[in-house]
Amino acid sequence: SGWSETWTWFDGAWHEGNPPIMGPRTHAAWLGSSVFDGARFFEGVMPDLDLHCQRVNDSALALGMKPTMAVGEMLELCQDGIAKFSSDKQIYIKPMYWAESDGPGVIAADPDSTRFCMCLFDAPMAPKGTAAAITLSPFRRPTMETMPVNAKAGCLYPNNARAMMEAKARGFDNAVVLDMLGNVAELTSANIFMAKEGEIHTPAANGTFLNGITRQRVIKLLRDAGYKVHERTLGYDAFLEADEIFSTGNYNKVSPVKRIETRDLQPGPIGAKARELYWDFAHA
Ligand code: PMP
Repeated sequence: SGWSETWTWFDGAWHEGNPPIMGPRTHAAWLGSSVFDGARFFEGVMPDLDLHCQRVNDSALALGMKPTMAVGEMLELCQDGIAKFSSDKQIYIKPMYWAESDGPGVIAADPDSTRFCMCLFDAPMAPKGTAAAITLSPFRRPTMETMPVNAKAGCLYPNNARAMMEAKARGFDNAVVLDMLGNVAELTSANIFMAKEGEIHTPAANGTFLNGITRQRVIKLLRDAGYKVHERTLGYDAFLEADEIFSTGNYNKVSPVKRIETRDLQPGPIGAKARELYWDFAHA
């Protein structure tokens, strides 16, 4: 089939493989009414899973959908679903809400038609030491007035996808996306940090990019460990002159950057420390 082992809970039961969950009249498929989240099971733990479940409910509300699952119910579902896989697997945990009614016939779907699934699949994390080459994207984040940027909504991702495609076409692994004012916002699906002279800087969450759960966790862990972390407005120049750059996101947690444009960077000690602190937290 081409799909790795996948279990999805919807309509009260677990389904294996990739069965259809949408039809020709599904609003989400035509008009982008879906929200989702991403979390991980690895090495026996699911760090901050409660926050990811809470966020998918908040995202649903932001798009006018009606979340139907309590966070506790989602956590139980995940425990239940993870048990279907062999315990050495690294699993991607993806809850989604989408609007079902009434296809292309209406602009705003009926909130009572909100549906839910919890999709779990086998997806190995990038091995420790995997580092990315990054470049400036010509595409930018939309503003709060132009898109629901406060939600993790499917409709935002075609813009991130074209940033990724454009960067890949030029031989890079990921793109730095600016906000509408021209300040650094994030990578295409991860938040970005830099270190300079022993201190850490990351764009202040200003509502134009996803204030990642991993981002917030890593900031707290670094501060608790005694590092200075500045959340502030950062231009691209600051990154071009950084000692170290690393990214955070639920998928690979903390990952170093090895090149920005033509400049090689050493994956450095602060990024490595951030990763180590995250692993300690995850296993605590
Ligand atoms: N920005 C975007 C656009 C993302 O898709 C993600 C991944 N969810 C992140 C940042 C990182 O957020 P988190 O740490 O919550 O996964």
